[in-house]
Amino acid sequence: MKSTGKPEPTVTIDTSGYAVATEEIRSEAKRLLLEKIVDAVVGYQSGRRKGSAVPVIITDPAQAEQLVFSPACVNNLSIYLTKAKKEIRAKGKLAVVAKGCDLRALAGLMGESQFKREEVVIIGVTCAGVHSAGVQPNEPLTSATIAKKCRECSVHIPEGADLIVGKLPLLPDLTPTEKELLEKLDAMTPGERWEYWKEQFTRCIRCLACRQVCPFCYCEQCLCDRGRPQAVDTSPRPSGNMGWHIVRAMHLAGRCSGCAECERVCPMDIPLNLLNRKMAQELKELYQYEAGLTPQEKGPLTSYDEKDDQSFIK
Ligand code: SF4
Ligand code: SF4
Ligand code: SF4
Repeated sequence: MKSTGKPEPTVTIDTSGYAVATEEIRSEAKRLLLEKIVDAVVGYQSGRRKGSAVPVIITDPAQAEQLVFSPACVNNLSIYLTKAKKEIRAKGKLAVVAKGCDLRALAGLMGESQFKREEVVIIGVTCAGVHSAGVQPNEPLTSATIAKKCRECSVHIPEGADLIVGKLPLLPDLTPTEKELLEKLDAMTPGERWEYWKEQFTRCIRCLACRQVCPFCYCEQCLCDRGRPQAVDTSPRPSGNMGWHIVRAMHLAGRCSGCAECERVCPMDIPLNLLNRKMAQELKELYQYEAGLTPQEKGPLTSYDEKDDQSFIK
């Protein structure tokens, strides 16, 4: 739907397929554990607040009844498969519940040798959308409560998973709000864009939640934590904040799968996924490269080709 400038009428999104997905996830998890195809299943269970969902790792077939799928299943569970999660990897072969956007992160992590395809069973779940940050978990999924990334999702059905559960409803045509904001930023002068980001980053309190939740921030020692020598000022002052965000953006360029988890967890409402998307757009234009489509060992910023554009070297 092209924006007309008028406020979008609120439409309810049909999530009846999520109950079907929950039943199928439970029965598949139980089967995989009973038949000893996997040792543990990474999925979602209900949280303490009504309607909420949190990640869970089950190892006993009897625990499969705990598993759920709902619009509150916001977390990208691929993070639990990285080598940094030693205690989880030590459980043995894993199955993981993955939405289409999470599957892109899984492909990226495989490309970076975090795990091999045959080591993981991917239970793909068809997904009409999840809640935006700050929405009460028991609220219905509507055009007013859906996450921005879901407004322009192209992976509702997680093709490439070992099995796919759930049923996709007829989806409404929603305005791509993030794409529109990106176009507005592109239309700014470099000076205006600089001011925009400076203003956003001033709010950063350096809680590093964005780093902790990112599946691609799995380094054992983050450069930005180092004190001797100090690479980036670790206190939340403007210059250190700018340094942190430039390092973060460059470290993730060509790797970020666009799950928007960093933005979801940011307590200061900094539009981090907008910056991720801008970097992805540049990579696509310059190198015809898109992260997370297939497992690839090296992205354009970690490899060299003689045909690479050299025009920026003056
Ligand atoms: S981006 Fe797509 S797959 Fe991911 S949560 Fe939103 S609708 Fe589901
Ligand atoms: S989550 Fe937000 S406030 Fe915390 S470090 Fe990241 S950008 Fe800054
Ligand atoms: S940078 Fe953000 S959007 Fe990209 S993979 Fe990490 S958490 Fe997801």
